[in-house]
Amino acid sequence: MNLPSSGQPDSLERRKLLATLGALGLMGGAGMTGMLAPRLARATEWQNWSGGQHASPAKIIYPANETELAAAVRDASGSIRAVGGGHSFSPVVPTTGTLISLEAMNGLAGHDAAALTATFWAGTRIAMTGPLLKAVGQGLLNEADINTQSLGGAVSTSTHGTGRQLQSFSGTVKGLQLVLADGSLVPCSADHDADLFQAARVAVGSIGIMSRITVQNREAYRLRENVTIMPITEAMSTIDRDKDKHRHIELWAFPFGGKAILKRQDITTDAITVPEKPFIDENAILGFAANTTRKMPWTNSLFQHLLGAFVSDSERVGNSFEIFPSLRTVQFNEMEYSVPAEHGLACLQEVMDVLKKNDVNVFFPIEFRYVAADDCWLSPFYQRATAAISVHQYYKQDYREVFDLVEPVFWKYQGRPHWGKLHRLEARQLRALYPRFEDFLRVRQRVDANGRFLNPHARKLFLG
Ligand SMILES: Cc1cc2nc3c(=O)[nH]c(=O)nc-3n(C[C@H](O)[C@H](O)[C@H](O)COP(=O)(O)OP(=O)(O)OC[C@H]3O[C@@H](n4cnc5c(N)ncnc54)[C@H](O)[C@@H]3O)c2cc1C
Repeated sequence: MNLPSSGQPDSLERRKLLATLGALGLMGGAGMTGMLAPRLARATEWQNWSGGQHASPAKIIYPANETELAAAVRDASGSIRAVGGGHSFSPVVPTTGTLISLEAMNGLAGHDAAALTATFWAGTRIAMTGPLLKAVGQGLLNEADINTQSLGGAVSTSTHGTGRQLQSFSGTVKGLQLVLADGSLVPCSADHDADLFQAARVAVGSIGIMSRITVQNREAYRLRENVTIMPITEAMSTIDRDKDKHRHIELWAFPFGGKAILKRQDITTDAITVPEKPFIDENAILGFAANTTRKMPWTNSLFQHLLGAFVSDSERVGNSFEIFPSLRTVQFNEMEYSVPAEHGLACLQEVMDVLKKNDVNVFFPIEFRYVAADDCWLSPFYQRATAAISVHQYYKQDYREVFDLVEPVFWKYQGRPHWGKLHRLEARQLRALYPRFEDFLRVRQRVDANGRFLNPHARKLFLG
């Protein structure tokens, strides 16, 4: 994200943030490379991580605390959108009005040692939560594939990892502080304005701006990770057989080579291992393969067949927050749908079949994960144990051919789209997928009758 010079581009708060990240070893380190530093260095335009979404807001504001945030909302003109890490692929952030970055509102605001909960300022990047929580003996219940999102952004879109018993970030939220359209600061939880709480836990930035978020955690823990390459058919039968045996299990399928990477993670008390440095950097291989197959499509199945030569089986033990995140430096665009868990593997098979039948030129693998049901009204996992299936396309290639082919397969399985990823659904279809859609709209109307928090994309999602 490149930030404009309006607002407070070089504020003390942003310098403090940089200093904090530096102290935590996050600047330029795993997970943050190329993601935060460029954003803060230049200040002209906004764009997301993949480069697929752009905006020229009239104003960008970096509130340093809740008083400044409330004033920013009260005084804003045009449509108001919050931005966290800018890691959504869909147009959930762009506005021509006021963009409010929560970047300076980061860190731990408090914790409850007995309940194992912690309250974070909403702009806290997930990468910052690990060391902060470890210092108070806690760990996040689960994490996504990367850790460069902000907590506010992750909660707003129901960002998730994998695990049959584990909910998305939104499912772990116990309480929120929100700034509403009139600039009021209101708390909500299951016991205090429960309707606002259920609506706001997954609201895609369209109810208000979260300033503080309280999440349920567990004791700090270590994970043992095992990564194995095998034929897709074997990976699918293994994940089906062992889905309840491992705390986390997922697969990455390369349909044109018939291979898959199967990843399993379980809690351990074993000593932390020092991982061997890979012979060749995985991102470098991915970048090379994506670029080559883009120019010479006939090399796609060759590269995918050779997967085992580039990626080796591995095992490691580390703190949970070190094991969860991958470093993703090769940009892509992504579509993800959540389908009922029991149909997940059938849906994955159909997605792969349609890509192969149409001989589409896509090198990136298809990711398959499990997520537990929750009760957030607009969560893709609302009252439904889920298999989440993600399809990626290299950012230099037009994603439409791939996504247009697979999306009807997801629709056939009653798939619900990831709010932060690309899809073509609007209110008309979403209403049928979410039993509490009308309740969400009712609460949204109550707290933002003039639609101050809606951009054109949000209007399509919620007003049709
Ligand atoms: C490389 C990569 C890997 C990814 N891996 C995963 C994955 O494993 N699992 C998964 O589920 N998703 C994944 N995603 C998607 C990503 O987690 C979500 O799109 C997430 O919302 C990004 O968080 P962010 O802080 O960047 O939010 P942004 O993209 O900045 O914002 C997302 C939405 O949240 C709103 N928002 C932000 N902050 C606040 C706030 N404080 N209050 C109210 N609304 C707010 C914004 O207005 C916007 O509507 C991945 C994305 C990328 C680029």
